[in-house]
Amino acid sequence: MFDKILIANRGEIACRIIKTCNRLSIKTVAVYSEPDQDALHVKMADEAYLLGPAPVKESYLKADKIIQIAKKTGAQAIHPGYGFLSENADFAQKCAAENIVFIGPSVEAIIAMGSKSAAKEIMQKAGVPLVTGYHGTEQSEQKLLEEAEKTGFPVLLKATAGGGGKGMRIVQKQQDFSSALSSCKRESLSSFNDDQVLVEKYLVQPRHVEIQIFADTNGHCVHLFERDCSLQRRHQKIIEEAPAPSLPDNIRKSLGEVAIKAAKAIEYVGAGTVEFLYDSDGQFYFMEMNTRLQVEHPVTEMITGEDLVEWQLLVAYGENLPKSQHEITASGHAFEVRIYAEDPEQDFFPSTGKIRHLQFPAQNLYTRIDSGIVESDEISIYYDPMIAKLIVWDKDRNSALRRLSVALSQIQLVGVKTNLAFLAAISNNLAFAQCKLSTHFIEQQHDHLFSQQVSSNSEILALISVYLFLQNQHQSTLKNQARQDPFSPWGIANLWRNGEVAFSRFNLSETLNDLINHYSILVTPQPAAEQEQFKTIIIKNDQPFAEVVLSAETHQNDASTTSANTLLFANIAEKRICSNIVRTDNEITLYLHGENFTLHLEETSDHLLEDNVDNNLLAPMPGTIIQISVHKNDHVQKGDKLLIMEAMKMEHSISAPADGTIEEVFFNVGEQVTEGTELVKFCADKS
Ligand code: ADP
Repeated sequence: MFDKILIANRGEIACRIIKTCNRLSIKTVAVYSEPDQDALHVKMADEAYLLGPAPVKESYLKADKIIQIAKKTGAQAIHPGYGFLSENADFAQKCAAENIVFIGPSVEAIIAMGSKSAAKEIMQKAGVPLVTGYHGTEQSEQKLLEEAEKTGFPVLLKATAGGGGKGMRIVQKQQDFSSALSSCKRESLSSFNDDQVLVEKYLVQPRHVEIQIFADTNGHCVHLFERDCSLQRRHQKIIEEAPAPSLPDNIRKSLGEVAIKAAKAIEYVGAGTVEFLYDSDGQFYFMEMNTRLQVEHPVTEMITGEDLVEWQLLVAYGENLPKSQHEITASGHAFEVRIYAEDPEQDFFPSTGKIRHLQFPAQNLYTRIDSGIVESDEISIYYDPMIAKLIVWDKDRNSALRRLSVALSQIQLVGVKTNLAFLAAISNNLAFAQCKLSTHFIEQQHDHLFSQQVSSNSEILALISVYLFLQNQHQSTLKNQARQDPFSPWGIANLWRNGEVAFSRFNLSETLNDLINHYSILVTPQPAAEQEQFKTIIIKNDQPFAEVVLSAETHQNDASTTSANTLLFANIAEKRICSNIVRTDNEITLYLHGENFTLHLEETSDHLLEDNVDNNLLAPMPGTIIQISVHKNDHVQKGDKLLIMEAMKMEHSISAPADGTIEEVFFNVGEQVTEGTELVKFCADKS
């Protein structure tokens, strides 16, 4: 086996490859771009070398520099991962010229499958079924239109050099052909430096089913079953599963046989994927062959128990495949979801920014996380916005789906927009559970998957506000300790124990479906209760809206985490609630029962401490004056009750913040006041 290999990639796939190397005691060399200098793959590798600035052309695509580093470090082989140089025949050739093993297929196989047209030609000769259409070299618009008409609309135009869903146009009718062709060619030229296209019949309800194949240099070729990758957005996979559900056994068998036939047709070596469209009429058609390890390979690993990176290393070293066809078995069901920094509401537009808080579920036999991102990492415009892959396995599809839903609900991520809620909606979708799969699933289920977000209920608002109250209190205790003035009344932590009503107001807002909800929340600690109790009054649109009484305790999590991540335990009406709250600046995200709610803190005020001492006693909420205990010019002691207000069927006393004189009482019993109105003019004694 190799002693040392170089990994010409970054992110989750680089980390994934290093894990296998560590297990096999193979030393690893990482390469990185400037912004990746502290990335996980750099830390995990035994050695790491800088390639250049962020843009891929100046870093991860620098073939010569990568080969130089391999030579300098004594790496015997290069694993290209997926993307970047993984299907670059020139790079494979250069590696061979320098006596470095390229962990992938032969240069000829990469070239043969690099063009969708050439691949179709080879497969047609080998008797592999193709979608009807045209993949010839004559590229005039007239010829292509003729072929499209022959094929019958709708047709799909595809860049022959295309990949990653780019350079594809659906043409519904003849009138649209010309403009679709120009746009397809433009995109192909700019993305792939080639504007050749092919024409295919556009299948209306297909599933994407692919076969994992493996071949060694000693003439063995096997398949490791199929994966269903029908769940796609913009022709790109987001959820994959193995085995493909509700696939007739004869089809499953034929797909495996045909994939091996396809691999043998090009004397394939290494890991490869033969992709098919499985049409609603029960026919399947070859689409293309990917000559690398796929993003979704973990679902195959979960059902077979094999490590495909280990297989790649063995094959590249010239060993036999570890197993023959009949020794490869599959059990249970696995799903993979791709967690992206993107906004599903904005047509899945990538989102960038710093990951402020990141917590994954625990990994075990059933749950696996492949990621190259850790808390504090930046998602930039330069690289793929995939944050992680969550892979789950269980004995059957339903059990695995339940696991997927639970595991998704356990992921906490703050800092960038993600598709987590969207993935969760799919994992809980009835049609998905019933295996109604097709590549149009997302369009068809649109209304269920993009359902309106729900606003925070009063419990959520109460929990967040009490958390903020406790946090302020904690800070004032710390401040007080720092001042070393334990007798300062302004630093008292347990305000309500003084028998005074100290209340804090938090103005929060949340943005839902482009609308902003504003809430004003009053937290009033209750002096009488045995436990630390809080009444929280929620005011929406200037009207008392709800009232929640809770007792709460908080636990700051592991001090090593960079974000303020706190567990809040609370009792609301005898219900014990444990929620996790993450605060980053003024964004507060609460995680509860797999749902999360993010609110923005607009301002805060501790009324007793700040406003009232300033001679103004203000109404903490809209309500009615029900009792006035003082008159103009009365002298009062600190803590004396001055008046009582009623709001939300609750009484609130307004007390003297210090010894002093009442200079004016502005209202009479029975009068209504709005929030923030000055009730009493008060003048504290000069000490
Ligand atoms: P790429 O190489 O860019 O990934 P593919 O040829 O693999 O492109 O196709 C990507 C996806 O586009 C498929 O998984 C499928 O959803 C859709 N697609 C491709 N060809 C057809 C077709 N003839 N009819 C309907 N959908 C298609």
